[in-house]
Amino acid sequence: MKILHAVAGGLLPALCAACGRSCRPGAVACTRCTRRLADAEPLVGNGPQGLDRSWSSASHEGVARDLVTALKFRRLLPVAGLMAERIQWLAPASLLSGAIVPVPTATLRSLRRGFDPAAEIAVALAERTGVPLSGCLGRTGGGRQVGRRRADRLGHPPRVHLRGEVPRSVLLVDDVLTTGATLSACAKALRGAGAVRVCAVTFTRRL
Ligand SMILES: [Zn+2]
Repeated sequence: MKILHAVAGGLLPALCAACGRSCRPGAVACTRCTRRLADAEPLVGNGPQGLDRSWSSASHEGVARDLVTALKFRRLLPVAGLMAERIQWLAPASLLSGAIVPVPTATLRSLRRGFDPAAEIAVALAERTGVPLSGCLGRTGGGRQVGRRRADRLGHPPRVHLRGEVPRSVLLVDDVLTTGATLSACAKALRGAGAVRVCAVTFTRRL
C-alpha cells in the first residue's frame, strides 16, 4: 500500500484527478477544477432518519462527482486528502466533533477494490482535525447499492454490526450520500449501543 501511495503521489502532480489535464506540481486538481469545486455550494439538512444532522460539501455533479469517481474507481488516494480538506474548511465547526466513524463498506466490495474510500476520507479528516477515529462499525451483506433502483435500496438496507466500543457522539463519514439507507442503518446500530449524537458528513450528495 505504501508503494501505491508513492506511485499515486508521484503521478498526481502532473495530472488533474478530476479532468485529466495537466496541473501544477503537487496539486491534486487543476486550477480550473479547483475553482469550479470552490463554487459548489455545501448542502445542509436534518439528514436521513436517525441522524441529528447531515452535511455534504457539494451536490454529486461536475468536478465533485469526478473526484468521487477518481477515488472510488481509480484509487487516486491523494483525492481523499483534498476531500477531507474541503470538509474541514467548509463544514460547521460544531459538526466536526465527537468521534469520526467511517461508514462501513461491504467486505467483498472493499476487498475487491483493495481499499475503502469512506475510510480513506475518514482517516484524512481525523488527521487534519484531531478528532479521534473509531472503527466501531462493520457491515455484512446488503449487496451492492450501486446500480440498484432507489426503491430497491431503501427496501433492503445494508446490515450493519458493531465491532467495538461505541462513542457517545459520532460523526459518520462517507464519500457520497445517496438514499441515506446506509447512514440510517449505521445510526440505528450506534444509538442502540448508547450513542446520543449521530451526525454525518459526506463529500457529495446525490439530489
Ligand atoms: Zn481539472
